[in-house]
Amino acid sequence: MNTREYIEIEEKYGAHNYHPLDVVIEKAQGVWVWDVDGKKYLDCLAAYSAVNQGHCHPRIIKAMKDQADNVTLTSRAFRNNQLPLLCKELCEMTGFEMVLPMNSGAEAVETALKAARKWGYKVKGVQEGQAEIIACTNNFGGRTISIVTFSTEAQYKDGFGPFTPGFKIVEYGNADSFEKAITPNTVAFIVEPIQGEGGVIVPPDGYLKKVSELCKKNNVLLITDEIQSGLGRSGKLFAFQYEGIMPDMVTIGKALSGGCYPVSAVLSSKAVLGVFKPGDHGSTFGGNPLGCAVARESLKVLIEEKLVEKSFEFGEYFRAELRKINTTHVKEIRGRGLFIGVELKPEAGGARKYCEGLMKLGVLCKETHEHVIRFAPPLVITKEEIDWAVEQVRKVLEN
Ligand SMILES: *Cc1c(COP(=O)(O)O)cnc(C)c1O
Repeated sequence: MNTREYIEIEEKYGAHNYHPLDVVIEKAQGVWVWDVDGKKYLDCLAAYSAVNQGHCHPRIIKAMKDQADNVTLTSRAFRNNQLPLLCKELCEMTGFEMVLPMNSGAEAVETALKAARKWGYKVKGVQEGQAEIIACTNNFGGRTISIVTFSTEAQYKDGFGPFTPGFKIVEYGNADSFEKAITPNTVAFIVEPIQGEGGVIVPPDGYLKKVSELCKKNNVLLITDEIQSGLGRSGKLFAFQYEGIMPDMVTIGKALSGGCYPVSAVLSSKAVLGVFKPGDHGSTFGGNPLGCAVARESLKVLIEEKLVEKSFEFGEYFRAELRKINTTHVKEIRGRGLFIGVELKPEAGGARKYCEGLMKLGVLCKETHEHVIRFAPPLVITKEEIDWAVEQVRKVLEN
């Protein structure tokens, strides 16, 4: 079957909750993917940063196959020999004390919100039913009803109410706006250190440090959502490290499994995650041995191949090369590490058509919001591959 036929079948039988580029991928390796017609593309999205280690990384695939031959699922009714090691390795690597494993990013965010509320009632002493959680404009945390409750993107909420009470919105990047919203009932502040879906928005220097201080002063938990910005994408293991802070809770997902399996987690302290007692929260697949084995190897690859450092260095290079393109379409080039947003001027006519042009030239990337092209290739990309990608970007952007 060819591209057209696959698309027709998907359009007929699959729900239309996405608007993908019309490329049908059947094979991938490292930074490259191939479509069903045999055409090769450089992947500059990396499945929204789930494939930081590169597609089908041989070590991760081997860990997955080996574990699949042993045991894939025990449920948490029984213990397995992978979960303890993943929890220990994650804590040693990140400096947190405890891990709660889940599957998707949205589940990790939900878990963090539940932990924060329970902590608020059991530890902080907020009156039952009164807990407030503060979130930011332009945030993205996933698609459950409670998470879209605090989205400021009209489409994410349209038709999905009634929503969950207990959330407040403040302006992203504005610590004063956050400070004003704090009340004695505030239990947590959830924030992305760099907003990914929001258009690769880096907040002003000092913002995270300031909100971290305000959280400490007011006994409010700081939750940084690092599902996209974390695990090397930003050029540090976590993007919050740019400001030398230590949040109370961190959500991770996406690259935690190198794109091989859905694995997410909440990292925190005993004081916070300790509020969960047996039966309070759970997931059939959360902490399953297959996911844990894949995650353990994905983390080892990240460290041993120095992908965090590579992201920092090549990100600077990628942005510098993009800035050399002679074009009047670009408003701003921003980001940290290999987490790059190219914002086009409104006159440029929307980012989608440039993504479609790049696809024809063999580079896959996706518009985020109307005017931003996000470049977030697997962190295993080489300098030569960046040069080639920039050459293609030049062809679509140069006047
Ligand atoms: C992708 C993402 C999520 C949701 O992850 P899913 O696995 O799609 O549920 C949450 N937060 C951030 C910052 C993300 O980028």
